[in-house]
Amino acid sequence: MEKEYRVLLYYKYTPIAEAEIFAENHLAFCKETGLKGRILIAEEGINGTVSGTIAQTQAYIDQMNADPRFADITYKIDEADGHAFKKMFVRYRPEIVSLHLEKDNLDPNEVTGEYLSPEAFRKAILDENTVVIDARNDYEYDLGHFRGAVRPEIRNFRELPQWISDNKEQFMDKRVVTYCTGGIRCEKFSGWLVKEGFKDVGQLHGGIATYGKDENVKGDLWDGKMYVFDERISVDINRVEHVIVGKDWFDGTPCERYVNCANPSCNRQMLCSEENEHKYMRSCSPACRAHEPNYYVQKNNLTRPEVEARLAALGESFAVTDAAARQ
Ligand SMILES: [Zn+2]
Repeated sequence: MEKEYRVLLYYKYTPIAEAEIFAENHLAFCKETGLKGRILIAEEGINGTVSGTIAQTQAYIDQMNADPRFADITYKIDEADGHAFKKMFVRYRPEIVSLHLEKDNLDPNEVTGEYLSPEAFRKAILDENTVVIDARNDYEYDLGHFRGAVRPEIRNFRELPQWISDNKEQFMDKRVVTYCTGGIRCEKFSGWLVKEGFKDVGQLHGGIATYGKDENVKGDLWDGKMYVFDERISVDINRVEHVIVGKDWFDGTPCERYVNCANPSCNRQMLCSEENEHKYMRSCSPACRAHEPNYYVQKNNLTRPEVEARLAALGESFAVTDAAARQ
């Protein structure tokens, strides 16, 4: 049965004049329509994820289709049981993805990698002379990725160009294909690879989201789940088989459950079971467990002696923060 809500994922690189004013008006329109979500607007285009009822999301698509700048947007549509966001944000930004290219910023309408259909991308994964690079953040990769894809050692997408430059020899003579959630990050990243001198560069058109919905490939060769930037946290992609690749932060057992470290100044996203969340007070390290404030301690109303007892059970103590601070 069709669900009552939908989540739209979409982007378009197209010039938007007076983008700040456009963003204000767009926010008003989205609120009026009853949508919730997050949309980024820049002079270079629009990048959004919004949720709403079928009627609300359709009203949005119709309005966008009536604007020549946005008429050819392809929406990746997920059915949902409710809103995937709590609020509606439309924000003006210098770029619609943060690759931080700034003065070297490039227009994907002028330079970008070859667009690959899901079928062509699946062939590329199986080709020995092709390197598949995941163009997302490490915590996204850790929950799920294409089988055999390269995981750049970066914490954030904006560090990717530097990492590629440092590891160039590995990829220079091969065909390089890239993928990301909805395709937007690859538009710029693959364009940047072309500009850097890589000869044969491809990108998964429409991203993992499109690959998972494709009737021919059915998400084949995707392992784990796909991280999404809304309250769902993750969605399924592979409709052929489900292989868990996520590993519990604490004991390495298979896990697909993301939580944030309870030390607010750390906030690390880590995969962990409910059991380990309690055992380790949802904190990624001894220093984070002893950190004050700690959201796990607050949420569970633990007294200082109680926390001391929990730390002692792990062979730890409050002294660790001082030690860590001195390092
Ligand atoms: Zn932490």
